[in-house]
Amino acid sequence: MNNTRRDIRALSKEELRTFFEGVGDKAFRGNQVYEWLWQKGAHTFEAMTSLPKATREMLAAHFSINHIKVDVMQRSSDGTIKNAVRLHDGLLVESVLIPTDTRTTACVSSQVGCSLNCSFCATARLKRMRNLLPDEIFDQVKVIDEQSRTFFGRPLSNIVFMGMGEPLMNYNNVMKAIDKITSEEGLGMSAKRITVSTSGIPKLIRKMADDEVKFKLAVSLHSAISSVRTGIMPFNEQFPLEELREALAYWYQKTKNRITYEYVVWKDINDQKKDVEALIKFCRFAPSKVNLIEYNPIDDGEFKQADPKALELYQTMLEAAGITVTIRHSRGKDIDAACGQLANKGVNS
Ligand code: SAH
Repeated sequence: MNNTRRDIRALSKEELRTFFEGVGDKAFRGNQVYEWLWQKGAHTFEAMTSLPKATREMLAAHFSINHIKVDVMQRSSDGTIKNAVRLHDGLLVESVLIPTDTRTTACVSSQVGCSLNCSFCATARLKRMRNLLPDEIFDQVKVIDEQSRTFFGRPLSNIVFMGMGEPLMNYNNVMKAIDKITSEEGLGMSAKRITVSTSGIPKLIRKMADDEVKFKLAVSLHSAISSVRTGIMPFNEQFPLEELREALAYWYQKTKNRITYEYVVWKDINDQKKDVEALIKFCRFAPSKVNLIEYNPIDDGEFKQADPKALELYQTMLEAAGITVTIRHSRGKDIDAACGQLANKGVNS
């Protein structure tokens, strides 16, 4: 691959128009190319048949199209599909299509690996290799939209940033990808059907509130007791719970959007009454929803799913405190596609 050529999809429509003017051509060619790239999903310049051949060759000399490629597509017995996605530089990420009776949800990655080292998550073992580019995020969504149409006869309905990586650590590119996904020139999806999930970086939660984003926010909390959370999510020391709570209160005050907490209950870690009490106290400041996620074992031991009794305790106490609670069972476990299992297992990297 010739690395001196620029990825053409990093250019806005205006920049493309300016480029064509700069080479003595008509600005409207920029609109045509933009349409080929973003509406028609062209993977090569040759495919842009409404452009003169010489123009296509000129573009190929200046630019590359760093399209993603699905290396392996695995289908779970429950209908879930996992894509191993090859990036232009050979690195791999994973994205997942999760079907229900009425919806198709895309779970997409924002980074190759992850810089946070949550001890229960398989992605953390990969470390962070690089941030995904806006079009690499967009492409994962586009691929899943096409798969949804092919296999389920309906378009994609929801997107969750719950794949590999921490979306807020790749803030600008994630926001650009969401702009493209929601724009009429991209997929025209409503931002209300997009959820960004974060481990909780206070400064960037405030920034999202200031940027008046329209998507939903989910926070992977797992414990509202500082020492417990630091034990399983070590960066909690750097971004203390109190700061997180204040940032979330700011988010709610600005957006009036209910906050969802993702929460796994583990045996002997956070399965006691005091843990539930701390959670209730933590989320009292705004309307909240708690998703109790089933634990997906990633290796041999340390973490064990709590007894059903502990989940009942959470459910009863949270409901009594007026907090919505749902218990989520994992999908796609047989192909390592469930939460926390994305680690490029079963494909050559
Ligand atoms: N970094 C972001 C995006 C990842 S979302 C975040 O932390 O929110 C993936 C979700 O799966 C997070 O809520 C994460 O805490 C959860 N998770 C990670 N490992 C898991 C596991 N082994 N079992 C169940 N959930 C897990």
